[in-house]
Amino acid sequence: MRAIIFDGTEATVRDDWPEPQPRDGEVLLAVRVAGVCRTDLEVLAGYMGFSGVMGHEFVGEVLNGTGADAGPSGRVVAEINCPCGACDMCRRGAPNHCRTRPVLGIDRHDGVFAERVVVPAGSVHAVPETVSDEAAVFVEPLAAAFRILEQVAVTGEMRVLVLGDGRLGQLIARVLSRRAGELMLVGRHAGKLALAGAHGITTARADAFESAADADVVVDATGTPQGFTTALAAVRPQGTLVLKSTFAAEGGLNLAPVVVDEVTVVGSRCGPFDRAIEALATGRIDPTDLVSARFALSEGVAALEAAGNRDNLKVLIDVA
Ligand SMILES: [Zn+2]
Ligand SMILES: [Zn+2]
Repeated sequence: MRAIIFDGTEATVRDDWPEPQPRDGEVLLAVRVAGVCRTDLEVLAGYMGFSGVMGHEFVGEVLNGTGADAGPSGRVVAEINCPCGACDMCRRGAPNHCRTRPVLGIDRHDGVFAERVVVPAGSVHAVPETVSDEAAVFVEPLAAAFRILEQVAVTGEMRVLVLGDGRLGQLIARVLSRRAGELMLVGRHAGKLALAGAHGITTARADAFESAADADVVVDATGTPQGFTTALAAVRPQGTLVLKSTFAAEGGLNLAPVVVDEVTVVGSRCGPFDRAIEALATGRIDPTDLVSARFALSEGVAALEAAGNRDNLKVLIDVA
């Protein structure tokens, strides 16, 4: 079958990749549309030492399931973590933190930039008819935005700041602006800020933004090493800092303000698919205006390049 393969050095489109074979408790899906995410670009840079079929954001169609728990049929999305179901974290009800989890297109499991993919039946969610393919492909990143509401009690009295006007920052701003008293999205790109503005979101240019250290909650979705420092300067004493950027761990950080200002730092990753699907089905969130470009699977290398261009938001790959 056709797939975008990363071999540890470069990404190429291949037509001779072996067909995935579902084992008991797994389902074989035909990929319809996939989305390129920042993590895919990090994979190209060596993240997790991954090689194989890239990609984790997608909507597909069930071809066949095996075992008693074959899950839904028709159009589906699937969670990216493949939990073991037996380790201490799985037993604690936190399968996204499974100690041995392979992750689609990121860690020891072939991904979704391919004609077909095999996933655990338990990680599949049905997509309602009212949700288009180009909306459904946003379920995974939208769930990651909803994850913040599971971790932080955002209320109508709160002032929330979202740093980063990229794909994830845009989704987070749309989700949190429905809860927060005040929300501002800070970014570097006039066009992207204008898009958020069209959704009624207050925005500011990063170079013109002056922190008053008065935000109750600051979300760092910059994807840059500087994001943590900027976010820390903007949060009020005893406020909450939500980190959505894996760059945050880079060296040379001054953590003294976390202690002095008693800041709560919350790491935040994968979120509830059900909530994201519901928000799309009811139309409360429509992410489709974040699509900047679409490519065929055969043009996969160009799609990855386009996703690396900071002028673009979401790049989609049409597979079916
Ligand atoms: Zn992603
Ligand atoms: Zn586990």
